[in-house]
Amino acid sequence: MKIILTLFALLSSVLLIAQDAKLPIIDMHMHSYSVGYMGESNIPNPVTGRPSGAASDKELMQATFFEMHRYNIVKAVTSGPLDVVYRWKTEEPKRFIGGVYFDEVTSLPDLEQLRQQFITGRLGVLGELVAQHVGLSPSDSLFEPYLSLAEELDIPVGIHTGLGPAGTPYTCCPKFRVTYGNPILLEEVLVSHPKLRLYIMHGGWPYLEETKAIMSVYPQVYADLATINWIIPREEFHEYLRGLIRAGLDKRLMFGSDQMVWPEVIGLAIDGIESADFLTEEQKRDIFYNNAARFLRINDEEIRNHHQQK
Ligand SMILES: [Zn+2]
Repeated sequence: MKIILTLFALLSSVLLIAQDAKLPIIDMHMHSYSVGYMGESNIPNPVTGRPSGAASDKELMQATFFEMHRYNIVKAVTSGPLDVVYRWKTEEPKRFIGGVYFDEVTSLPDLEQLRQQFITGRLGVLGELVAQHVGLSPSDSLFEPYLSLAEELDIPVGIHTGLGPAGTPYTCCPKFRVTYGNPILLEEVLVSHPKLRLYIMHGGWPYLEETKAIMSVYPQVYADLATINWIIPREEFHEYLRGLIRAGLDKRLMFGSDQMVWPEVIGLAIDGIESADFLTEEQKRDIFYNNAARFLRINDEEIRNHHQQK
């Protein structure tokens, strides 16, 4: 009897450990911002209504790291001002892939410098490219040399699609147009650059039909589910996600949080996927990790290491 009880105790503690061990997650869409980057500091989280708890750049970085460790986010593509991206990457080199953020056409990155940053691995993704906010189509000739460089060096490209916050053209970005968020506009880019490793950011929401059309004709295209997994009504997100899954795209959807200055959105974004009860466990693992690992071409050894952490 005593042996049975001991065995039972042993088994339940093993089960508890198994429950506690979180499987690894890759976040394909994060930002390294300074605390006042969103304009005024203390700007409230649009979902919780609460301002960022971080009072300094360092606090914002540390609070984001804390959430990443809590949810076992083993890798994240992060973009923002390059000095901030590099600071984060220096703190946790293996955890971050640096992205180059295009938010103003007046300060486009120097092409030769960018080439060096890609070659040395300081940066690993071209994106987030937000043509929509400056009133341009992603297929505008302005971006052509950058896309050619990414194709030449085999660097993944993340392009913002979908919508922006209510009133965007009246506030930050007078040239912003809903029209330029349509993923159908990626077609000319894909035709001109057939080897480009492109992913549609924000899952193309709300353009379900156009996203399905692009992803079915161009099987190399992936999509992240960032922001829509926490900022839009949950039912709307789940309906949209269900549409993408029904179209057979479950091997090309990737998790993203779009963490900006509110580290708590990482948990909200994860819950957006976890609470989708129409997804199988395998589909959830694909979205949280496997699809991004394939898209980023993470090697077997690193994949093993990710599953041994924690
Ligand atoms: Zn975006």
